[in-house]
Formats: sequence, C-alpha cells, structure tokens
Amino acid sequence: MSDTHYCCPFCGLVCDDLSVDLPGCPRAVQLSTAPALGVARSNGSEVDTAAAVAAAAAILRGARRPLVAGLACDVTGHRAALDLAERTGAVVDHMNGAGQFRNWLAFQDGGWMSTTLSEVRNRADVVVLAGTDATAFPRFFERCLAPESQFGELSRRVIVLGDSHSFPPERLAGTALAIPIAKERLGELCAALRARLAGRLVAAGTVAGMAPEQLDALLATLRAARYGVLAWNAAELDFPDADLAVRAMADLVTDLNRVGRWAVLPLGGSDGDTSAAQVCTWRTGYPLRVGFEAGGPHYEPLSHETGRLLAMGGVDALLWISALDPERRPPETDCPVIVLGRPDMTFERPPAVFIPVAVPGLHHAGFLHRMDGVVALPLSARTATGLPAVAQALAAIAKELSRAQA
Ligand code: SF4
Repeated sequence: MSDTHYCCPFCGLVCDDLSVDLPGCPRAVQLSTAPALGVARSNGSEVDTAAAVAAAAAILRGARRPLVAGLACDVTGHRAALDLAERTGAVVDHMNGAGQFRNWLAFQDGGWMSTTLSEVRNRADVVVLAGTDATAFPRFFERCLAPESQFGELSRRVIVLGDSHSFPPERLAGTALAIPIAKERLGELCAALRARLAGRLVAAGTVAGMAPEQLDALLATLRAARYGVLAWNAAELDFPDADLAVRAMADLVTDLNRVGRWAVLPLGGSDGDTSAAQVCTWRTGYPLRVGFEAGGPHYEPLSHETGRLLAMGGVDALLWISALDPERRPPETDCPVIVLGRPDMTFERPPAVFIPVAVPGLHHAGFLHRMDGVVALPLSARTATGLPAVAQALAAIAKELSRAQA
C-alpha cells in the first residue's frame, strides 16, 4: 500500500488501494459520508457525552449478566469490548454471528484447507461460487478475479452454483458456467461429487436437480483445475443446519486435494467480524459467543447467540456496538439497551443510552482483519472529528464503573 492509498473498512475485502482519485465503490462511497459530529442521548433526551457514559455505566452496574454484541468496530474497539465484558461478566457475540458460526461449527468439526485473497488473484484458474454471487463484496471480481495476476494474464473459469438469475450477466460471460441449484442442496451435491471422485456410483436419477452426466462433467472441470477455489458466503446460507453444507464443501475440497490443488475461501469479514473473532480467540481461545464467568471464559456456540439470549431472558442489558454501518441497529428487546453507534444512526425505538462514536478508517486510525484473516490492515483517519472511538467510549464507561465502586 502506498502513502496515497488507504484501506476501506466497509466490507470484508478491506481494499487497500482506495485513493481520492479512484472511482468509488458504491458501498464505500455511501458509508464514507458519516457526519463528524453527533448528539448523545439518555432516555430520549440530549445529554453531554459524560452524562451518557454515566448512564451507560449505571445500566451495566445494575445488570447481572449483560450482552456485549454488535461488535462492528476495529481491533482496538474489540479489545476494549472484551475488557469490559470480562469486567462485567458479560457474554460477547457479533452482529454477523449467524453466518460466522455456520463456518465455525463446520471448521471445528474437521478443519479445512483455506487460501488467501492474494492466492486467488494470482493463482486460481477455477473459482466456484457456491450459493453466492459475491455482490455483498462489491469489488470482489475486480480485486480477486481480474485477468491480471502477479505471474501474467490468468485464464479463469468461474462456476456459479446457485440461483444465477441474480448474477450480473456480464459476469456470466466468457468462460463462466452457471448451474442452477437450490442452496439447501449444496451439501447433497458435494457429497455426490465426493462419491463420484472416489469412483462410486451415484443412485440413478438426479442429484440436487443434476443428471449424472452433468455431475460427471462438473467433476471433470474441477479435477482439471491447476488451482481451484471453492467460495461461499455463510451469511447467505440461511437455512437449517447450513453448517453441514459448509462441512460438505470443505470435505469436497479436501478430497479434491488428493488429485489436484484446491482450497476453500469463506467470504465474510464485514462489519469487523473477522477481527472480532480473532481478538476473542487470542484472548479466550474461542471465536466469540463466550460468557465471562467466575471460572473463566465459557463458550456456548448455540445458546450464546444474541437472538436466543434476548428471547430467553438470558441477559438483562444489551451493549450494542455499531460503528461502521448506520443500518445495523440493535435487535428488539425489552431489556435496557446502550448503543455505541455511528452519529448518523437513527432509531424507531430509541435505546436507553446512545453514544455517537467515530467511524474507524474514516474518523480515526486502527486495524482491521480482512476476510481471509491473514493480515490486519492499517486504517487511517481521513476526516477530523471530536467523537470518541469505540475503545475510548468503552474505556470511559469502565472508568465510570471504577469511580462508582471506589
Ligand atoms: S469492496 Fe468493500 S472494502 Fe472494497 S471499497 Fe467496496 S466496501 Fe470498501
């Protein structure tokens, strides 16, 4: 990254080539317009930040078991969130936890062979997009699937497994292949491909809507890859037991590695979710959904899910952190809600306390992991603000808790 370029924090690609001259990515342009000023509120009234911090501390002091969730911020914010969670005996979960844990459950079950965005760009000649068109990452095709590579021009074959109706037609041109298949049947398809790869017959009829000869043609394409990549976006695999479909895809890649070179690429990492999982893992050994208890961190990947905890009354206060996208508001709940949010965040039902915070990578510097988790990229401050960063607001709440205890 040169001095004139900066990193974008607004999706899991964390593009490091943005400059004032670069024609904008629509998502980056839209989210880069956050105001530099905001108004703190407590019980619906405008207050100064110190009063909002005191009100937030009072809620946390009175809670037996808070939930610190959302967690859309940078690495320093995540560290401060975990500090506060440990201090208050809270549970931590990310706003993208549903998708994250489809991956984590599958990963914990058997691991996988993954690749990096750079490897995809420089080596992948066959890229399978399973159940996704990758449009949640607006520059994915430009950044990762462009014909140019470090080693010269690369001829790629893109295979779309899923609903190709939503796929931009220009991306289906050339060597792309679209195979319509319901997302719920991706696991079945991968199991059948593994069976054929192992030389076993697949029952007559169709597998996931595909005729046997179509299945074998697809397998031949996969086997012919010099460097194949199977990508999915777990956030889009919103059906029961989707972690089993993720596991099936990872197992197919493991088997393909016996005859060639293949890797998985789980798309994700937006809203700081990769960073949140990394920080929680290095602090506790677990990738979020951890409750801080007297005996130490307690990991519950299913029962520590935000929606379930709120619905079951498993927590009695919610601290919601959302510093990147004003549309990512806290879920509905009857327990008191503290929001550390972008200054342009609006609410139908105002939280008990709202503290406007600076946007990482726009108002303040920091670090953020991109979706492949291999690098923490530096974010820079591009606009001046008087708003506190998430880490500063959380530190102020912690200080107020200490002051009240003294
Ligand atoms: S693709 Fe994502 S990281 Fe890249 S500029 Fe757009 S929003 Fe930012």
